[in-house]
Amino acid sequence: MTEYDLVIIGGGPGGYVAAIRAAQLGMNVACVEMRGSLGGTCLNVGCIPSKALLSTSHKFHDAQNHFADIGIKASVSLDLKTMLDKKDKIVVDLTKGIEFLFKKNKITYVKGRGEITSASEVLVDGKETIKTKRILIATGSDIVRLPGVEIDEKKIVSSTGALNLNPVPEHLVVVGGGVIGLELGSVWKRLGAKVTVVEYMDKIGGPMDAELAKNFQRVLEKQGIVFKLGMKVTAADAKGKGVSLNMEPAKGGAAERLDADVVLVSIGRKPYTENLGLDKVGVKLDERGRIAVDSHFETNVKGIYAIGDVIAGPMLAHKAEEDGVVCVENMLGQKSHIDYNLVPGVIYTWPEVANVGKTEEELKAAGVDYKVGKFPFLANSRGKAVGETEGFVKLLADAKTDRLLGCHIIGPDAGTLIHEACLVMEFGGSSEDLARTCHAHPTLSEALKEAGLAVQGRAIHV
Ligand SMILES: Cc1cc2nc3c(=O)[nH]c(=O)nc-3n(C[C@H](O)[C@H](O)[C@H](O)COP(=O)(O)OP(=O)(O)OC[C@H]3O[C@@H](n4cnc5c(N)ncnc54)[C@H](O)[C@@H]3O)c2cc1C
Repeated sequence: MTEYDLVIIGGGPGGYVAAIRAAQLGMNVACVEMRGSLGGTCLNVGCIPSKALLSTSHKFHDAQNHFADIGIKASVSLDLKTMLDKKDKIVVDLTKGIEFLFKKNKITYVKGRGEITSASEVLVDGKETIKTKRILIATGSDIVRLPGVEIDEKKIVSSTGALNLNPVPEHLVVVGGGVIGLELGSVWKRLGAKVTVVEYMDKIGGPMDAELAKNFQRVLEKQGIVFKLGMKVTAADAKGKGVSLNMEPAKGGAAERLDADVVLVSIGRKPYTENLGLDKVGVKLDERGRIAVDSHFETNVKGIYAIGDVIAGPMLAHKAEEDGVVCVENMLGQKSHIDYNLVPGVIYTWPEVANVGKTEEELKAAGVDYKVGKFPFLANSRGKAVGETEGFVKLLADAKTDRLLGCHIIGPDAGTLIHEACLVMEFGGSSEDLARTCHAHPTLSEALKEAGLAVQGRAIHV
């Protein structure tokens, strides 16, 4: 029987990237995946299908609402089936692409559910045992359910069901004003639904910088999304044609009813370790049910490692990928490292919202003396030229050393622009480094340079 150097359980962005990097480094690798396709949550039901719909719905909305302003006359109607089919094809192409990469790197793809029976054995579908020197758990995450609100993926859906609604619901209620709820709420709003977002906290966007969250909410309200903040959904009745939701103020008060055609429950995700055999081999979890690992991603059981959504840190595909690379490089004695403070976060609405590093609230709480530099896209000539003037760049720099501590952007292509700040911060750079770097004109990136200048109170174009 073959003994692998590494068996990875889970073929998502954490697992498949770790498999490729391990193979590049000369390991004999197998990856066990039970979904029937590679790519995990991200490619199959997460990042990729949601971004496909965000892109196509944005184009539809633009054509319907903004083309006439710029002198393009068009008669536009929605062919939802084609839009959904297109999204599905993108997913299939990408997941097949990973199969190709596995073949290219001579990685064994094992289809089935993996269960750890010892630190050197993985049982697949209860039948076949694979022998290995090391095991890497990359089993990802699952949706958090709301008590009293049962998901049927038809009228009460998770993010997975919300990627396939047909027809467009008249009224979509999104429970949870975090990244996934706001992205998918935006999709269906653009395609014609009335959208109401019910959020337990009194701000949207989770831990987002409060100034950005306020602006972001205002922008989404201008687009027609209705927000009910500080409200707790307590029950859902789906017996009738639609769904009737009961909710009450989070801080206490009179209950309210809200009727919807479809309810999307998007209140978060939790680590997925079901039937993995962790208790049998003694792998410890932390207080939040995540697999506990050390700085080399090794669990308390020697030879068993874990990465991605199933451990602590931001639940993001690129974080899972970096975890995977760092983990396998460390297995072979390299000194790789990932700094979770520099993992960017992006919300792919329009405008986009992106962040890296600390928020103003975090700096205040830590007693750090900081300076703020802001620059609006309204004063950015490229933004003006292409009709994208919503939003601003906000930089936070250490008041004494000028080291860049945080960057928060709401605006066009924020998710691409943020990487300039990521790179400066990876190198321990300053706001002056950004400000003194020659930026091509006219580009949206100039807004970052100007925000850097603004930290010193010397922006040119405002
Ligand atoms: C709607 C939505 C949109 C998102 N958008 C973004 C985005 O734009 N950007 C971003 O960075 N992140 C996004 N995410 C989050 C992102 O998908 C996750 O952070 C990422 O997929 C985590 O990667 P992972 O490899 O840790 O786990 P996963 O991608 O969840 O992969 C784990 C895999 O393990 C398999 N598995 C589990 N248990 C077993 C077992 N016992 N045996 C065999 N296989 C098993 C599962 O089938 C799954 O395929 C989104 C998520 C959702 C739901």
